Amino acid sequence: MRAVARAAWIGGALLLAAAAGGAAGGEGMDAGRLREAMVREQIEARGVRDPRVLAALRAVPRERFVPPAVRAEAYDDAPLPIGEGQTISQPYIVAVMTELLRPEPGDRVLEVGTGSGYQAAVLARLVARVYSIELVPSLAGRAREVLAELGVSNVEVFVGDGYRGLPALAPFDAILLTAAPPEVPPALVEQLALGGRLVAPIGTGEQELRVLERTAAGIVSETLFPVRFVPMIRGEGDAPARPVAPADD
Ligand code: SAH
Repeated sequence: MRAVARAAWIGGALLLAAAAGGAAGGEGMDAGRLREAMVREQIEARGVRDPRVLAALRAVPRERFVPPAVRAEAYDDAPLPIGEGQTISQPYIVAVMTELLRPEPGDRVLEVGTGSGYQAAVLARLVARVYSIELVPSLAGRAREVLAELGVSNVEVFVGDGYRGLPALAPFDAILLTAAPPEVPPALVEQLALGGRLVAPIGTGEQELRVLERTAAGIVSETLFPVRFVPMIRGEGDAPARPVAPADD
């Protein structure tokens, strides 16, 4: 797995260097350097401290998760379009939400909103297993493809409505939403293990980042700061989420 990831990383770096070559004037701009600068200037400088989270962000080739047209901007301090009207979150937000989950090596984590698969790839380096649900089949298919190319083998991508979660695989040690529902979906709270944490943007229009924890005494909820995510859309019908298939690519 390590060899595959390394080969992919070199491929990504070369690709980015080629794309940025003209503008950079041969200053040796490459993905590894851009990624290091991203972690230092956008993430560490703003207070994210968990060394495991920082190491994961240093390791995942973000440029592989964005469309070729915006690849040169992969390490910018901003969200980027990934197709289907969706976005990959700003690196800092990915870092903060990942740190708030307090990921442990043995954890099983549910992500709602696979999008590009980048957040799932970051989590995959920190926990035992990631289950990620995406409503849009083509995005789920593409994310699965990129994850496979990078040799990430502990992420399972599902197509379906994240409002329902994955009851058959619950409970989860952590649940992360990367699309904003108007309220915390009750089914997801039910799927949270004792001691587990759910991190989510909540609200319509004005959204805030919320952290819920299931303690022995019940659910404890904390509201952090305003955020802006794409809305979490209600899926049609009531079929449970299904594993992504080649036809979804
Ligand atoms: N985590 C992603 C960013 C996701 S953007 C990344 O790292 O790239 C939010 C994603 O949530 C979009 O891809 C959108 O299609 C998806 N989404 C919206 N409503 C959803 C729902 N009900 N269930 C699952 N996914 C949903």
